[in-house]
Amino acid sequence: MESADVNVTGTLMWYYHICHRQVWLIARHIVPEQDHTNLELGRFLQETAYTRNKKEVTVGHLKFDLIKKKDGQLVVGEVKKSSRYQESATMQLALYLYELKELGIEAKGELLFPEEKKRINVALTPELEQKIEQVKKDILRIVYLESPPQPVKGKYCRNCAYGNFCWA
Ligand code: SF4
Repeated sequence: MESADVNVTGTLMWYYHICHRQVWLIARHIVPEQDHTNLELGRFLQETAYTRNKKEVTVGHLKFDLIKKKDGQLVVGEVKKSSRYQESATMQLALYLYELKELGIEAKGELLFPEEKKRINVALTPELEQKIEQVKKDILRIVYLESPPQPVKGKYCRNCAYGNFCWA
């Protein structure tokens, strides 16, 4: 990969908590087999996105689901269909809060699961900031590896579109 700047996006942060091999593949735009693309995209959208009334807000390379003011405080919201991948979603949102802070913008976060009528507050703490910094470094380490990390059989492999690539 060229040594051009790679932005650690919310997507890469998300996949870091699913599978490090996917981080490498997605960063290099290596798409799964055609037959599986819809499956993968469908699964991703179904699990992560809640598209009804959704309007994305873009700040630089960051894309939020919504941004609002609440009690005088800026709040970034990330809307998900299911809380199944809560750790990934929390870290994705924490990355947004971290990057905003770097731009001088203090914000809080809300993970919203409308279908589960669930809302989880996410706030940056020194510990979370430290974790974000460590994970960002590790994502870049993975992205710049010459070959992808070895596959590790896990619970996400069963529905993964890269299955044949990893295990055939
Ligand atoms: S099949 Fe498993 S190891 Fe391979 S990319 Fe998918 S989740 Fe990762």
